[in-house]
Amino acid sequence: MGEAKRYSGGCLCGALRWEAEAEPLYQGHCYCADCRKASGSGFVPYMGFAAQAVTITGDALSYGSPAANGNIALRNSCPTCGGLVFGGERGKSEEFTIYAGSLDDPSQFRPNAAIFTQGRPDWAAIPTHFTIFERMPPDAG
Ligand SMILES: [Zn+2]
Repeated sequence: MGEAKRYSGGCLCGALRWEAEAEPLYQGHCYCADCRKASGSGFVPYMGFAAQAVTITGDALSYGSPAANGNIALRNSCPTCGGLVFGGERGKSEEFTIYAGSLDDPSQFRPNAAIFTQGRPDWAAIPTHFTIFERMPPDAG
């Protein structure tokens, strides 16, 4: 068995942190309107990890909104600095979605998919090598 790659990151002030010892299950950019509003940006860069591979420390402010699959999607940000750090519910979700901009080493992020591109504004550009999904890809969440 090879050494599991280690990823870590956190919010702007450092109070809400995460570590993962596994390869991401998927990684890409989400262009949905909720991600745009939540982040104040054109898309959210995400990495999915199995929950058992992730350790999260620090308090989070959790905000829920209806997801495409009918569930409530929880976004977790730092209550001190407001940085968005992860999606999912601690102690309950089987996977966490990490906001890739929170990585300590952002060069570890290798996105390859653009999801929920339907309704994307022109200024939120998609890198040319990405696989494009107008909605949710069939093999995710
Ligand atoms: Zn913070």
